[in-house]
Amino acid sequence: MNKKLFVLSGSSGVGKGTVLKGFLEKNPNFMLSISCTTRHPRPGEVDGVNYFFITKEEFKNCIENNKFLEWAEFAGNFYGTKKKYINQCLAEGKDIILEIDTQGALQVKKQMPEAILIFICPPSYEALENRLRGRHTEDEATIQKRLQQVKIELERAEKFDYKIVNDNLDDAIKNLEEVIKGEMQKC
Ligand code: ADP
Ligand code: 5GP
Repeated sequence: MNKKLFVLSGSSGVGKGTVLKGFLEKNPNFMLSISCTTRHPRPGEVDGVNYFFITKEEFKNCIENNKFLEWAEFAGNFYGTKKKYINQCLAEGKDIILEIDTQGALQVKKQMPEAILIFICPPSYEALENRLRGRHTEDEATIQKRLQQVKIELERAEKFDYKIVNDNLDDAIKNLEEVIKGEMQKC
């Protein structure tokens, strides 16, 4: 059976990580792709678990050697998905989920039109800002940079296959499950 690649995207702070965590707890058979980033780890983040934390130099080398399926600069840091990791998972017969920004999601769709793009929307701009601030992981300058991306992210969302509003968390997880189960039933 053909293995599927799902891409989950949305503005910073909308709850992508939280929704995905809830989904993966109930559906452990899905592989979550681990990205490379030049961002510094947040307290509690572990190299090789949350991200592969690499230097700008290492990131540049990966770009030059065509190692990334997609990569993007987001709010001052670089993020990328290694081709090798994705191809290996698909070859091993695993369904994969990527949690990446909207620029990267559209790059994946260009290269792999069969990829399924899912955009997580906030119930309102105010809720998004409150969640981003309430997470207490970014300084004010970084929060501003991330909020500046919201308008363009919503424009890019028009090209996605599905949109899910993350208002009530349990409902958002259920909606994600329905979307993914529906796609898995297609040949
Ligand atoms: P992202 O991965 O999109 O940047 P996170 O998953 O880190 O976002 O969530 C940002 C913050 O919002 C976290 O503090 C999280 O607990 C909170 N959050 C996520 N989903 C909801 C929700 N449905 N209702 C209220 N708060 C939420
Ligand atoms: P954060 O710094 O909050 O972990 O992530 C910031 C943004 O980068 C989020 O939108 C996240 O989904 C995105 N991101 C994480 N990994 C990748 C990746 O490999 N590629 C791209 N394009 N974006 C990523």
